[in-house]
Amino acid sequence: MLNIVLFGPPGAGKGTQSERIIEKYGLVHLSTGDVFRANIKGETELGILAKSYIDAGKLVPDEVTINMLRSEVLKNEAAKGFIFDGFPRTNNQAAALDNFLIELNTSIKVMLALEVEENELKTRLAKRSEISGRADDANPEVIANRIHVYNSETAPVKEFYQEQNKFVSIDGIGSIDEITNRLFSVIDNF
Ligand code: ADP
Repeated sequence: MLNIVLFGPPGAGKGTQSERIIEKYGLVHLSTGDVFRANIKGETELGILAKSYIDAGKLVPDEVTINMLRSEVLKNEAAKGFIFDGFPRTNNQAAALDNFLIELNTSIKVMLALEVEENELKTRLAKRSEISGRADDANPEVIANRIHVYNSETAPVKEFYQEQNKFVSIDGIGSIDEITNRLFSVIDNF
């Protein structure tokens, strides 16, 4: 299996680049944000719970997120590999993912971290809100909170992968194609 963590702050371009990566390498895309949004739309129990956190720009509790991720992976056991987008977002989630992949006799190959500075993120999210219809993109206070949560809870996950020599930083500024090529080149040569 080829398992990749695509990492970066909100608005860094994880969703866009994931589409390119799954197309080239035939991986299953697992975006925790997308799964939560589908559950919100379907008004499931998970969706109702997740909505209150997402609308406030907070993280959904680890236990809920980990269980959800686990069941999504198990639905796709025959996959060539996974691209994890928006997960892990805490050190707890990273440790749970490692243990879980061991059970499946596999592991993470690399974490690719898209680096984009804060003002550019705010501009991109405001622009995305016009087309995404996402309430959490439309409110500047919620955006600021998501970036704050990223810096305090999520950014430390980089060190988790640095310690395993699996961390690669990617410049997230440039054209979509340029960034895709940077990602492909790391995946092919790592
Ligand atoms: P973005 O990367 O633009 O913030 P996502 O679609 O990845 O958007 O996530 C949207 C929201 O879903 C997050 O702000 C958070 O509330 C929730 N969420 C997504 N992934 C996780 C996760 N791994 N752990 C906890 N909450 C999550």
